[in-house]
Amino acid sequence: MPTTAVPGSTSYEVITLNQALNYLNKSPTAWNLINNSSNVEIIVNNVGLNMVMTTSREIVWDPSVAHQLRAADGTIGIQSPALALAHELAHKLYGNNEGQATAFEHQVAIELGEPTRADYESLLGYVTVQNATQHTENGQWVASDIFGVEYVICPYNGTVQENTAPATGWGAQSAAAAAAAAVVMAAAAVGEVAYIFLRTLRKARHGLGT
Ligand SMILES: [Zn+2]
Repeated sequence: MPTTAVPGSTSYEVITLNQALNYLNKSPTAWNLINNSSNVEIIVNNVGLNMVMTTSREIVWDPSVAHQLRAADGTIGIQSPALALAHELAHKLYGNNEGQATAFEHQVAIELGEPTRADYESLLGYVTVQNATQHTENGQWVASDIFGVEYVICPYNGTVQENTAPATGWGAQSAAAAAAAAVVMAAAAVGEVAYIFLRTLRKARHGLGT
């Protein structure tokens, strides 16, 4: 699909959205949805909002909010902000049906090795992360760099008390990744990068004072 970055987007917003989409594209289920989505506008915010506007093309997404979930087997894990974006994209397909959106999210999580939740209500809390791909997997905190290469950060204790994530940066972990980020930013400047329209939620930022 044609790719466009909305003028005024910050480099962080452009990179974090593309990083999340590159990561989600490793899931065949998410790839299919993303590449068949059109006329969707993702509004990046940093005030904790993840929601879909059913009456417009907009999705509101906070790339720093990860979800702490309880799986059907009782284990607790942290699902990445990228998965939250997949959940909201699914609402474009399923409307307000949380069961269907959560089933979609569940399938994408399995394909990416992320934790799942027993049902929509099995959301325990929110964890602030720096990298939109950051999640727990097999007892470890992991994240992907801008190339989509996953790296292990540190062990995860799997308790409901843990509500702060270990620092990762947002993925430019090497000189090569930093160089790739610069390429993404340069392409964004000429409007070639974001898979889906992107603009900022400056009103919310200013209105809520965060
Ligand atoms: Zn939902």
